[in-house]
Amino acid sequence: MKLLQCILTANSCYRTGRKIKPKGVMVHSTGANNPTLRRYVQPLASTPGREELLAALGVNQNGNHWNRPDLDVCVHGFVGRLADGSVAAVQTLPWDCRGWHAGTGTSGGSANNTHISFEICEDGLTDPVYFQRAYQTAVELTAMLCRDYGLDPLADGVVICHQDGYRRGIASNHGDVYNWFPRFGRNMNDFRADVVRAMNGEEESEMIYYRNLEDIPAYYREAVAKAVERGALNGTGGGELNVSEDLCRTLTVLDRLEKLD
Ligand SMILES: [Zn+2]
Repeated sequence: MKLLQCILTANSCYRTGRKIKPKGVMVHSTGANNPTLRRYVQPLASTPGREELLAALGVNQNGNHWNRPDLDVCVHGFVGRLADGSVAAVQTLPWDCRGWHAGTGTSGGSANNTHISFEICEDGLTDPVYFQRAYQTAVELTAMLCRDYGLDPLADGVVICHQDGYRRGIASNHGDVYNWFPRFGRNMNDFRADVVRAMNGEEESEMIYYRNLEDIPAYYREAVAKAVERGALNGTGGGELNVSEDLCRTLTVLDRLEKLD
């Protein structure tokens, strides 16, 4: 995860200066089709690393970013696209600053008093590649925060989204992130499980699969062909093999040991 820092010091939330003792992380998504970080995050003349930040984020020409007073919202971070199109996270408030992100729930309470918050910048909600990158960055950011603040992401009410917060009576009635995650087969239970995996240092598996014999690199192909010929490898039907690179490598080792002849 690439993590930048651009504290929104002009935002009235930051200037109010109230602190919290973080008890959880609330995940939001913006509800607007604009995946760029520069839409929300811009440095001021006084922001450390201003030139580097502007180069990385790109320049917001519309003046509608959140580093200004008279907004009634502010979060601790954003996940979205940098100017080069890559996906990164930016810290925008000190993590123990009281954010303005959850509103008030039906209990009269607010996750503003307990939860660190970040927004994932939405796009048009149909791009699986952007979703996967933004989701993974959000997982890694949440894992870092849980580690730093000694939070158990599986404990009740710790890692929740805005809509979860509404159902728990501690946030206003917004749908995020259930307007987006389920389109790509994910819910907040998946998210919490992925946070645990990230905290345990487990990488997402990027296993490579080959569909047909022709897709398999030449240096593996002979061994795999032998296994097919000998009836040891049948594939997944319809003439497709769908073998992993791991299996190709194993078969190649066996072939070198002359076990496939
Ligand atoms: Zn929200």
